[in-house]
Amino acid sequence: MNAITATGLRRSYGDQEVLKGVDLNVQRGTVFSLLGANGAGKTTTVKILSTLIRADSGSATVAGHDLVRDPDAVRAAIGVTGQFSAVDNLLTGRENLKLMADLNHLGRTEGKLKVQLLLELFDIADAADKIASTYSGGMRRRLDLAMTLVGSPQVIFLDEPTTGLDPRGRRAMWEIVRRIVADGVTIFLTTQYLEEADELADRIAVLDHGKIVAEGTADELKRRIPGGHVLLQFTELRDLESAARVIGSASRDGEALALRVPNDGSVRSLKALLDRLDQNAVAVDSLSMHTPDLDDVFLALTGKPETVTHS
Ligand code: ATP
Repeated sequence: MNAITATGLRRSYGDQEVLKGVDLNVQRGTVFSLLGANGAGKTTTVKILSTLIRADSGSATVAGHDLVRDPDAVRAAIGVTGQFSAVDNLLTGRENLKLMADLNHLGRTEGKLKVQLLLELFDIADAADKIASTYSGGMRRRLDLAMTLVGSPQVIFLDEPTTGLDPRGRRAMWEIVRRIVADGVTIFLTTQYLEEADELADRIAVLDHGKIVAEGTADELKRRIPGGHVLLQFTELRDLESAARVIGSASRDGEALALRVPNDGSVRSLKALLDRLDQNAVAVDSLSMHTPDLDDVFLALTGKPETVTHS
C-alpha cells in the first residue's frame, strides 16, 4: 500500500495558482523527496498533505486515510517536523520528550520506556537532563525529530532537516533518518540540499512552478540529463587544436586551454578516448571527469539555480 497518494492537487492563493495539479505516489517505508526552488509550492504541498490547509481540488490519502473525509485519522498517523521546532528551551531533553509522551496519552511506564529509548536512539542520552537551550543545533534537530516519533507516526513530513548543521551533524541526522525508515516509517522530505536527496531519497520529485516536472530515483533523474564529460587540459594551444581535430565532437571550455568531450563515464569510452589521443601523439596535460549530479538535473529541469534558502 502507498503511504501517500495524491491526484490532481490544485491550490491558489488569490489569483495566484500555486499548485497546478500535483500527482504523488509514495511507497510505504521509503524516503520521498520533494525538490523545488523557493516558491515552487513545496510547503503548500506539505500543508495540504498534513491537513493544515485544504486543496481547492484533487484528492489525496495519507496512511490510507482520505484527507477530506478523515482528517483526524490522517493527523493521528503523521508527524510533522522542520523549520519551526517544537522543542521547549526551558525544559530538558527528557522533559520535552516526556511532555510529548503525556500529550500522546502514553501510560507512565510505556512513556518512560519510550523516552529512554528515543534518547538513546537519537544520541542525546548523555545530555538528557540538561536544558535544551544548551544543546547544539544538531542535538536540537535530533530532539525535535525524537519528539515527533513519540507518537509512533507512520508518515513523517520532514522539512529541511539539516539546514544550518555542520557536515558531522548532517551525517548524524541522515543516519537517524535511515534507521527510522528501516523501521517501516515513511518520510516525505523537503530539502534545499540536492546531496541530501541523493543520499536519502528512494525517489525524488522535482516541483517547478506548481507542477511535478520530473520524478524518479536519483540515478534515473541523472541519466535523463546530458552533461557527463571529460575535461582535457593542455599546456600548448597547438595540442588543443590537434586534439580537437582528432576527437571531432569536443568543444572549447571557455578561454582556458581545455576541451570538453562528451563522455558517459564508462572505463571503455575513456580508454577509447585516450587511445585515440595517444595514437595521434597529442600531449594532454591532465584530465578530469564530470558526471552529472542532481544540481545539473535541477538546473536543466527548472532553468533556475538551486539556491533555496528558507523564507
Ligand atoms: P520555499 O522554499 O521558499 O519555502 P516553497 O516551494 O515551499 O518555497 P510555498 O511556500 O509553497 O513554496 O509557496 C508557493 C507560492 O505560494 C509562493 O509564491 C508564495 O508566495 C505563495 N504563498 C504561500 N503561502 C501563501 C499565503 N498564505 N498567502 C498568499 N500566498 C502564499
